[in-house]
Amino acid sequence: MGPALFVLALSLCGFDANSSPLSSSPHSSSCPAGALELSPEELAKQANIQKLAGLSNDELKPLSEPIISPGTPRFELINKVASSVTAQETSSQARENAIVVLRGEISSVDDPLLYNLVAKEAWLVIIPKNKLLTDLPMFSYYQGRKTADGRLWNDIRGVANVDYRDKVYAATGEENLLGKESFSGYKPYFTLVHEWAHMIHLVAMPIWSGDAPVNQINVTRAYQDAVKNKRPFPDSYARQNSMEFFAQCAAIWFAVPYVDSAQGETLNAEWLAKYQPLMFDLLLATFGPPRSITPNANLFSWFKFY
Ligand SMILES: [Zn+2]
Repeated sequence: MGPALFVLALSLCGFDANSSPLSSSPHSSSCPAGALELSPEELAKQANIQKLAGLSNDELKPLSEPIISPGTPRFELINKVASSVTAQETSSQARENAIVVLRGEISSVDDPLLYNLVAKEAWLVIIPKNKLLTDLPMFSYYQGRKTADGRLWNDIRGVANVDYRDKVYAATGEENLLGKESFSGYKPYFTLVHEWAHMIHLVAMPIWSGDAPVNQINVTRAYQDAVKNKRPFPDSYARQNSMEFFAQCAAIWFAVPYVDSAQGETLNAEWLAKYQPLMFDLLLATFGPPRSITPNANLFSWFKFY
């Protein structure tokens, strides 16, 4: 599994300099209505999250109460962002799964950030498993070109923050959306979670928002803190820059890490709390509690976390 390099300055044709490809080289949704009953295992998980985040019982209380009701503006907003998926020539299952995972990833993201995604017309493109990224019109500029680390763009299976005709696109390969290990070697849904984290960071987040914790400056600060204090990174890809650091840690947050362990310990929210405290705080503020958001594990997805 060769880490893909961040691609610098693709400045022609309006392509954004922040595009960040992932390599393809070898390497049921539920919407609970009414009261939510948590199993003992889920309660233990919740208590652990509470401990990690240093939250009081009062602060954690909203976790057990569904507050996103069908028909409310927030419900509609989440649905609008989550359904911005183009998937011609892919299986309907891949699109359905993508929407579930997207919805899970954004379900606790603050309204203003989601409005930014809507206003900037953010879309996810599913690359059919039998097609190349560069077969699709919004990425055809890359045809025959190479990434900064010398790989053909044609073979790339994940990208984010690509401007094309007044819209901004992320893409992920269909093969990573079908619930099983893909030929890329990534965990199912990893690519989508990673690329959409780039969209949250680079498209949705304000550059700076005063005392509010979720902004691009704080992503940079978390990265600089990690470098300056020689904190261990989860993997070499995350070490490259603040964008990949954020996206890789988001994948850990949502339980689809790029690699399973670092420092000899399992990569999960506890690991982030221990080794990357600023990133832990930022992810909690951005995405709500750490959780699985795959189609069969969508427990906390509909709950705003305060
Ligand atoms: Zn990336």
